Amino acid sequence: MDIIERFKKYVSFDTTSSETIRPGKASTDRQYDFGREVLIPELKSFNPDELDVNNFGVVRAVFNASEEETLPRVAIFVHMDTSPAAKGSDIKPRVITYEGGDIDFGHGVVLHAEDYPQLKKSIGHQLIIPDGTTLLGGDDKAGMSAVMDFLANLPNHRCKHRTLEFHFTTDEETGEDAEHVSMDKVKAKFGITVDGEDLEEINIETFNALAMDVEIKGFNIHPGNSKNRLISACQLAIEFDRSLPAFLRPEHTEGREGFVHLCNMTASEEHAQMSYIIRDHDLNKARYMAEIAQHSAKIMNEKYGEGRVTVTVTDTYHNMVEKVNECPESVKLITDAFDALGIPHEFVAVRGGTTGSQLSFMGLPTPNIGDGDFNPHGRMEYVDADQMALTSKVLAKMFED
Ligand SMILES: [Zn+2]
Repeated sequence: MDIIERFKKYVSFDTTSSETIRPGKASTDRQYDFGREVLIPELKSFNPDELDVNNFGVVRAVFNASEEETLPRVAIFVHMDTSPAAKGSDIKPRVITYEGGDIDFGHGVVLHAEDYPQLKKSIGHQLIIPDGTTLLGGDDKAGMSAVMDFLANLPNHRCKHRTLEFHFTTDEETGEDAEHVSMDKVKAKFGITVDGEDLEEINIETFNALAMDVEIKGFNIHPGNSKNRLISACQLAIEFDRSLPAFLRPEHTEGREGFVHLCNMTASEEHAQMSYIIRDHDLNKARYMAEIAQHSAKIMNEKYGEGRVTVTVTDTYHNMVEKVNECPESVKLITDAFDALGIPHEFVAVRGGTTGSQLSFMGLPTPNIGDGDFNPHGRMEYVDADQMALTSKVLAKMFED
């Protein structure tokens, strides 16, 4: 099966995950269906030494070294779900040869070349695009196609001197997938996720992520006779938000700049609740932002009375770089393969988290590589099929021994 056919097959299955968590299970049944109907039969045909599915629908396959195992075992992760942010059913992929300029996806969706400078690199390449009504599903089915293409073409489906583990995870898009992996069965020294965008960008850094919940108690009185008595939780919420640095919101930051972001709020005179996220590649800076917020709460409580404003900060995930750097061979395996194939590459700090940001702190350092999927999670998504095919070749180079 050619890699584009493989990709089309995978995206013909709707595997959208859901923000609504089901305890002890993956968020949607269709992820189990995809594992059972597509992945398991294909993996079986490669004769794995171990193949199983856990309660969360994560499919795990192990291929032992065919000769003496002298190189460390590696775990490869791709996720089978697609983002609930856009429609993931009835995807109608179309393959075009990109000659430059805007791309008309159909249904009024046009990708303007001037807004997406990275498109220049794809001139002359085959692109896979959706029809303007759905996402494409390249996140992460481009990664999955590259991994399965690599495995299908690997002689005897095995490395000579290294055992390979594969984990096809569920609910990555809702941040649950690292929790779904059966870590007791992970025997690898390090992992690699194939879940990035541009293949020429390698990720060993992610954000540090804090969640900040703010609870505000007001004191409500009929507005007609509330002079000097009403304490409106709505107004306190506005005052609290105004005390945070306005130009460190996501809409004003990029690159290595961190941010504080109000995701959600509900407010009445009596009570207000605000949910923030804080992100920074530097954990100290993320913590300092939380300190600024706590200082605001302290000052407001002095002004309006104890207990009016309560700030609760919890850690969501941390920048994986320190853990990945403890295992330099995980990065060297990747960069050596790029160098051997003459593919330029740079390290790009992810403005978000990856599966690896959690796995790395669970004891498995896990850098991320790209697979040619661009503009994920929306109707502007496309896959550079040449890059996707090259991803399979990079994997083959990494694991040629
Ligand atoms: Zn992904």
